[in-house]
Amino acid sequence: MSEKVIQGKTLEQWKAEYPLMDKIICTEEAFWTNPKYGKFEDAIKKISLSEADVKDAEERLKRFAPYIAKVFPETQQTNGIIESPIAKIPNMQKKIEEMFNQEILGQLLLKCDSHLAISGSIKARGGIYEVLKHAEDLAIEKGMLTVEDDYSILDSDKFREFFAKYSIAVGSTGNLGLSIGIMSAQLGFKVFVHMSADAKQWKKNLLRSKGVTVVEYESDYSKAVEEGRKQAEADPNMYFVDDENSTNLFLGYAVAAYRLKNQLEEKNVVVDEEHPLFAYLPCGVGGGPGGVAFGLKLIFKDNVHCFFAEPTHSPCMIIGLMTDMHDKVCVQDFGIDNITAADGLAVGRASGFVGKTLQELMSGSYTAKDEKLYVLLSTLIESENIYLEPSALAGIPGPIDLFKTEAGQKYIENNNLKDKMKNASHIAWATGGSMVPKDVMEAYYKKGCELLED
Ligand SMILES: *Cc1c(COP(=O)(O)O)cnc(C)c1O
Repeated sequence: MSEKVIQGKTLEQWKAEYPLMDKIICTEEAFWTNPKYGKFEDAIKKISLSEADVKDAEERLKRFAPYIAKVFPETQQTNGIIESPIAKIPNMQKKIEEMFNQEILGQLLLKCDSHLAISGSIKARGGIYEVLKHAEDLAIEKGMLTVEDDYSILDSDKFREFFAKYSIAVGSTGNLGLSIGIMSAQLGFKVFVHMSADAKQWKKNLLRSKGVTVVEYESDYSKAVEEGRKQAEADPNMYFVDDENSTNLFLGYAVAAYRLKNQLEEKNVVVDEEHPLFAYLPCGVGGGPGGVAFGLKLIFKDNVHCFFAEPTHSPCMIIGLMTDMHDKVCVQDFGIDNITAADGLAVGRASGFVGKTLQELMSGSYTAKDEKLYVLLSTLIESENIYLEPSALAGIPGPIDLFKTEAGQKYIENNNLKDKMKNASHIAWATGGSMVPKDVMEAYYKKGCELLED
C-alpha cells in the first residue's frame, strides 16, 4: 500500500518532525507556542500593512457613523460606532480555576463582540467594514459622494437604486454571511451568501427575510468560498468578499484594538512592561482574530501576547503555522474531519495571508474540545449571566492552558514574564452569541449542564 503524501512528506514524517502533530491528529487538545515569535520592531518591518492603514479604516468607519446611526437605531447610543463592551469576569475566573484546578495569575476579562450591534458577532467589524468600503469606492468613483459629505445621504432611494446595479457575494460558515448580508441589503446591493453545511438554519432564515439570496452547500467552508469566488468572477458588477485573502476585512477587524485601548484606560487596566496583556482569540480562517491581533501588536507591541484558539476538530491555523505550510495544507489532509459545534470556527484551511503576515507576531495557538466549549458556555451563563455561542468560548481556556502546560510555562519564562504574571490581564475575545434564538441558546445551555454533570 502506498502511503499518503502531504506536501512531500508522509504522515509519519510530519509526526516525527512536529511532536505535537500526533495529539492534533488525534483531536486531543494541544497548546503550541510559536518558535518564530519575535520582537515587534523586527517583525513589523516584514509586513506590508501599517498603522496608517488601520487609521484609514478607523476614519472610514467614522465617516459612515451618521449613516449607521440612522439606519441601525440600536447604534445611536454610540453615535453610529459599532463597538462592544469589555467586562471583568471574576466569578467566571474563579469557576474555571476550580474546574481545571489551576490558578490564573492576573485578571480575566471578556471582550463582548458577541454583543456587537447589527450582526452579533466579531464579523460586525470586518464584514461590515468591507461592505462600507466597497460602497464608498463605488459612490466616489461615480462622483456621487465625497469624503466631506454627511454619509447619512446614503439612506435614500437615489443611493439604493444606484447600489442595486451592483451585487456582492461571500462564502461563509454563517456569521460572515450574516454581517455582509445585512449590511449589503441595507445599502441596496443584491447579495449572494454561499453557506457551508455548518451554517445554522436560523441564520439562513434571517438573511432570506432581508431579501438576501442564500445558496446552500453540503460541503464545508472552503467549498462555499470557492463557489462565491467563481460566481463573482463571471460578473463584472459583482464584488466578492474574500474571507481568505482580504486586507479590507483584516483592517476592519484591526480597528478593534484602537477602541480597546481607550476602554482599558477607562477601566484602569494598565498595559506596560510590568503589566502584560494576553489575548485569546477564537480562530476560523484567521481574518478576525488575526486582524485584532495585528491591531493589538501595533499598539502594545511586545507587551501584548496573542494566541489563536481553535476547536480540536478544525485546527487549521495551528497546523498551518506550525508546519509553515499555511494554506497549502488543510486539516482533512491529516485525517481530521473539520466537524465541530463551534460553527464559526469550522474552517479546514487557514488563510495563507493571515498566517504569513502574523507568523512572527503570534505567540501561539491552542485547541479546545467541543465538550469544553459547551461546559464553559453554561458556566459563563451561571457565573456572569453572559450568553455566548459555542465558538465564542474558545478564548476562555487560554489562560488555564498557558499556566497549566509545559509549553505555556516555558513561554512565560522565555519572555521574562514570571514575576509579572500577577499583574497580567487576560482577555478572552467573545466572538458571537447575542443573535442566537432563545430556543437554540437554551439547547446549548442544557447540553453544557449535562456535560457538567458527567
Ligand atoms: C468567524 C468567527 C470567528 C473567527 O473569525 P475568522 O476570521 O474566521 O478566523 C470566531 N468566532 C465566531 C463566532 C465567528 O463567527
